[in-house]
Amino acid sequence: MKLLLEISYSKLERETWRGFPHTTKRLNAVQEIDVNTVTFLPYLGTKMLLVTSDVQNVVNGNVYRPLIALVGVKFSEKKVPGWFTFVSDGKRYWCEPVPIETSNVRVRCQCGDFNYRFSWYDHRNKALYGQPFKYQRKTDWYPPANPLEVPGVCKHIGRLARSLKTSGLFR
Ligand SMILES: [Zn+2]
Repeated sequence: MKLLLEISYSKLERETWRGFPHTTKRLNAVQEIDVNTVTFLPYLGTKMLLVTSDVQNVVNGNVYRPLIALVGVKFSEKKVPGWFTFVSDGKRYWCEPVPIETSNVRVRCQCGDFNYRFSWYDHRNKALYGQPFKYQRKTDWYPPANPLEVPGVCKHIGRLARSLKTSGLFR
């Protein structure tokens, strides 16, 4: 397996499609997910922007909290024309829109699809935020959850990314 070690959001989605080209779920099902709130947490010193979101599956009502950590973000505490703006802890910030094709990201979600299929491979490719989910396969005949060992994203992260694109944070 080729390790990527730096992954943009677009690359993560391409790897997800490469690993599971025929699925009708996941990135083909982002329309099932509603974004309720989006929370921004800027780390000015390390140039990281943590974006978390409360999302809900409109089909079954399940709620999740996907996360996208943007790395190498340029922040300003004063208005910069054309930059994305957000409020964190009552204070307004601006940041340069993040190139979705080239800027590195780390992602996380609590759903089973993410944890069983992608968390370990995201971790190996330095695309996971936090520690990988540990699990033991109960049998040795169960088909591998991720046969091509691709890093990737679930539909909750996919939905959050689409909302970041609509809002102009991703460009
Ligand atoms: Zn998820």
